[in-house]
Amino acid sequence: MRLYEFQGKEIFKKYGIPVQSGFLIHKNDEVKNLTPPLVLKSQLLVGGRGKAGGIKIWDGNTDALRIINELFSLKIKGEKVRAILALEKVDILREIYLSITFNRSKSTPVLIIGTSGGMDIEESVRLNKEKIHFVEIDPFLEILEYQIRFVAKKLNIDNYLEFKNIIRAVYKIFKEYDATLVEINPLAITPGGFIAIDSKVNLDDQSYFRHEELFNKLREEKQFIQGKKYVHASKTKEDTITYVPLSGNIGVISDGAGTGLFTLDLINEYGGKVADFCEMGGITNSEVMLKSLKMVASNQSVKSILVVLIGGFNRMDDMAEGIIKFKKELKNDVPIFIRMCGTKEEIGKELMKKANIPVYDNLNVAVEKAVKKAMEN
Ligand code: GDP
Ligand code: MN
Repeated sequence: MRLYEFQGKEIFKKYGIPVQSGFLIHKNDEVKNLTPPLVLKSQLLVGGRGKAGGIKIWDGNTDALRIINELFSLKIKGEKVRAILALEKVDILREIYLSITFNRSKSTPVLIIGTSGGMDIEESVRLNKEKIHFVEIDPFLEILEYQIRFVAKKLNIDNYLEFKNIIRAVYKIFKEYDATLVEINPLAITPGGFIAIDSKVNLDDQSYFRHEELFNKLREEKQFIQGKKYVHASKTKEDTITYVPLSGNIGVISDGAGTGLFTLDLINEYGGKVADFCEMGGITNSEVMLKSLKMVASNQSVKSILVVLIGGFNRMDDMAEGIIKFKKELKNDVPIFIRMCGTKEEIGKELMKKANIPVYDNLNVAVEKAVKKAMEN
């Protein structure tokens, strides 16, 4: 989830990163008692708003309302301006680029700093590679003092302590909010110290379960700005299961629709017939696994069960837990064949081994065994 500038800055403030004071203006709000100079910034989720004319400075010599109305009439990269953040204008001595994101090829967070931040960061990186520095962060050690010293030196920072606090705060936000990006561009050096002039915060949607309240609040704010009515997510865990009754004698469970359909084809190729099919809906847990097994097994024609799992966001240890629970709870002893790989695969397989339930690495083998067993019974 991508946050608006004002939302990101609320988080910055909470973590002690200095931001300008200001307030949000919604379309049709009555605005009065404005004190110049102000920076009027359209709140948009697309980038490059300054360059596209979405930021105006009001110095008090013109009519502020006219500028505000002008901004509200804008559409930048297809996005209408529906809220404006009014901030006290500050004097800027220097602009720095600062962000933490993931280096996906190395699976680590990375701190990125640029000696000249601002609106032309992409262009400036292309032209001057030496202006940008990447510091990989070991998630277990987190950001170390020497790394902060390194970047502070590259940036010629005078006020090291203040700078260090900002870097640490950015990392803390990155970690505690499950962000995929926390960016300050520019981080301004002003006569009064550092100020985060802009914010760009992206949160990982997959971490919703850890931040339900926060996500709902942020989403509500976003939808209010976008003029949409807020609807709370109502999908329960059970709702994610798709059950398809068929007419054969093999029960199939998969953790994704694609894997499931592919497996149905394979079963057909091996001469088997599917009795019923449960697709657990991607992200799942042991309870959903247990429930799916019960659903599939409730069909009296089922003579063998084939479970096909490709763990991405769902964890194989959770899946194993659900399968073992099923084995313990269930009286009739329908043989289960499992193909398991992906996240926490080693733990899942170990649990299966202890429970004496066969796991196959090769999908073809698992399918073949399940088909054969169903034919025997
Ligand atoms: P973006 O275009 O969406 O990245 O918007 P920013 O919030 O980063 O602002 C763009 C540029 O406007 C900054 O790089 C600054 O140069 C300038 N700017 C924004 N706020 C202020 C301010 O309070 N004072 C001054 N002097 N410049 C500002
Ligand atoms: Mn910016």
